[in-house]
Amino acid sequence: MSDLIQRLRADFPALHQEINGKPLVYLDNGATTQKPQVVIDAISDYYRHDNSNVHRGAHTLSDRATHAFEQARKTVQQFINAAKPEEIIWTRGTTESINLVAHSFGDSLQAGDQILISAMEHHANIVPWQMLAQRKGAELKVIPVNERGELDYPAFVELLNDRVKLVSIVHVSNALGTINPVEDMIAKAHAVGAKVLLDGAQSTAHWDIDVQALDVDFFAFSGHKLFGPTGIGVLYGKEALLEAMPPYQTGGEMIEHVSFEQTTFNQLPFKFEPGTPNIAGVIGLAAAVDYLQGLDRDALLAHEHQLLQRARTLAADMAELRLIGDAEHKASIFGFVLNGAHPADVGTLLDQQGIAVRTGHHCAMPIMEQFGVPGSVRASFSFYNTVDEVDALFAGLEKAKLFLL
Ligand code: PMP
Repeated sequence: MSDLIQRLRADFPALHQEINGKPLVYLDNGATTQKPQVVIDAISDYYRHDNSNVHRGAHTLSDRATHAFEQARKTVQQFINAAKPEEIIWTRGTTESINLVAHSFGDSLQAGDQILISAMEHHANIVPWQMLAQRKGAELKVIPVNERGELDYPAFVELLNDRVKLVSIVHVSNALGTINPVEDMIAKAHAVGAKVLLDGAQSTAHWDIDVQALDVDFFAFSGHKLFGPTGIGVLYGKEALLEAMPPYQTGGEMIEHVSFEQTTFNQLPFKFEPGTPNIAGVIGLAAAVDYLQGLDRDALLAHEHQLLQRARTLAADMAELRLIGDAEHKASIFGFVLNGAHPADVGTLLDQQGIAVRTGHHCAMPIMEQFGVPGSVRASFSFYNTVDEVDALFAGLEKAKLFLL
């Protein structure tokens, strides 16, 4: 396995550098992943050879750009097993995907309707619903989370009723690492007639998603957390739902016919893609997906789990370390605090040793508040991380303790 990991690391140029005189140990993959050379090349090749606007040129470059852009849609469609390419909407990222649903699907909500989220959501999956609820006189209900950072499933079932129109839930918590039991939740939500949106920002980097097997109504994710570029993301939606939804943003490309009296809208997916899209981003994301599809993702997931287990084992021997999120089903996202030390100070001292982690509230203030901390230190492992790097993190923490405790 370690030979394979070393070979894969060679694909990621940014991993091979020194920070503060120490080899970089990049453990901030939950914030964004590094990019393999094939992604960097796809973006630069596009700009070198095919740069042009899509869908409207009467010339060869535009044909090439349009072809690559629409091929990329098919690549992503197959990657998440959507039934049709029309169900793949390009957005700027998970945040915009959720906002699209909140504005467009949300338009059908009425006073008294309910939206269910959980206590462990990212702000991107809280604020759009809060604002929608205010606009519509709807109610935002929150599924509680226990002290291990697991969703209270019986409480979720109890909250379901025929006024719930949407359950919007994080697939993998970025702050806690918890993997939510989404298959069961989707079935239960559908039984009361609610639709389900999954915030897949953190799950897609770890395993393959099958939206049809999940039977999920909407699935949102970001390219940059999936080894692709920033500024590009995806909203998957079931065709019938997307068809029935009004446009979100308006302008060029998303129209069929415009007069000053009336406008008719383009078909899917273009109805939701106004303006010139992030063409290079789309091409870069498809290159990332192609790259991932050439890997044995099950084996890499098992490797990530080993990294997490190693961290858990070492943490058990560090008395000052308190885990933030210790769910039974957990992705390789390892959040903690060192009792007596501010997370930001821990992060700075780790950076001095070349170790990159994230500190703070991770855009999930409510769950941090529930754990009684202003924030945490988060090491998030990707398949290109090694056991030695986990050990380096703990060696780094030992040094940080000397300064801070
Ligand atoms: N949801 C979760 C669970 C996330 O981790 C993130 C990114 N931190 C987002 C939503 C928002 O993603 P983006 O910033 O790429 O739109």
